[in-house]
Amino acid sequence: MERVFVTRNLPGPALDELRQAGYQVEVWPEFTAPPREVLLARVRGAAGLITMLEDRVDAELMDAAGPQLRVIAQYAVGLDNVDLEAARKRGIVVTHTPGVLTDATADLAFALLAAAARRVVEGHDYVRRGEWKTWHPELLLGPELHGATVGVVGFGRIGQAFARRARGFEMKVLYASRRPKPEAEAALAAEHVGLDELLARADFVSLHTPLTPETHRLMNAERLARMKEGAVLVNTARGKVVDTEALLNALEHGPLFAAGLDVTDPEPLPADHPLLGHPRVVVTPHIGSAGLRTRRRMAEMVTHDLRAVLEGRAPKHAAVLP
Ligand code: NAP
Repeated sequence: MERVFVTRNLPGPALDELRQAGYQVEVWPEFTAPPREVLLARVRGAAGLITMLEDRVDAELMDAAGPQLRVIAQYAVGLDNVDLEAARKRGIVVTHTPGVLTDATADLAFALLAAAARRVVEGHDYVRRGEWKTWHPELLLGPELHGATVGVVGFGRIGQAFARRARGFEMKVLYASRRPKPEAEAALAAEHVGLDELLARADFVSLHTPLTPETHRLMNAERLARMKEGAVLVNTARGKVVDTEALLNALEHGPLFAAGLDVTDPEPLPADHPLLGHPRVVVTPHIGSAGLRTRRRMAEMVTHDLRAVLEGRAPKHAAVLP
């Protein structure tokens, strides 16, 4: 019986189906990630691993598993925590979950944009504190969505899905991407511009790149300072795409009005972090793909691809096929 180690429990029936298919499935039972030493011990002898974005999947982990390890199925689309080259060198297939979580993540990005701009969380806190005594023309004003210009940084699956939502709110779409995307551009009446121009023109900027050496702290102090006065930044990509200190500074001293963040640096964000002291920062705990249907479908995708590799078939969503 081949062994599969899963670093967190998954929603839905996928893991039971894997057991019924004859695999010995061992699941880390706790809510938080297995400590490194425990992880290194528990992967020993596994033919397949199902990993999450908080697990550091590097050469050390692959070697700790042993030479029978043939597949790592990542329960996420982003692979910045996985050393793909180390997997390639060892002949290990790496799969992930592109596409299935696109709409759920774009939905959350748009929810953060609306919540941060129109001060939804701040308004809720105001009511909860018992401060709602009257209606006033100047209470909790914020930038309007309709008719605004939105800048999408990284115009891939999620960036384009986000732009579709923005079009529904009658927003003008600008995008920055290493390569122009003529088809999506035509479908969404979007305009391809350089990042500097996007930052200078957009009322809302939403980040949708992967985390790579090139995008690490892409939104640094200099770029944040180039944003429009009163702009709103949304990040559902990865926390490290933004320089947190510089973001705080841009919120406190301008030009930013607000920020909506599903991902942060550090992550998790401690409850006493200065970002949470700012009234117009809305933070969610990395739940972009946390739709009920989406998370079950992600579980099916990783288990189907894992089985495919272990049973000698081609996986559908491979990021590394040695
Ligand atoms: P995708 O389809 O590969 O899109 C990423 C886009 O980023 C590509 O179109 C790429 O286009 C562009 N890009 C890469 N480097 C860039 C750079 N330096 N400057 C500008 N654009 C750049 O990936 P996706 O499915 O949309 O996912 C995007 C990311 O979202 C994932 O990698 C993950 O980190 C994050 N994510 C977060 C959550 C969450 O829960 N918050 C959920 C899902 C995904 P070019 O190659 O043409 O530049």
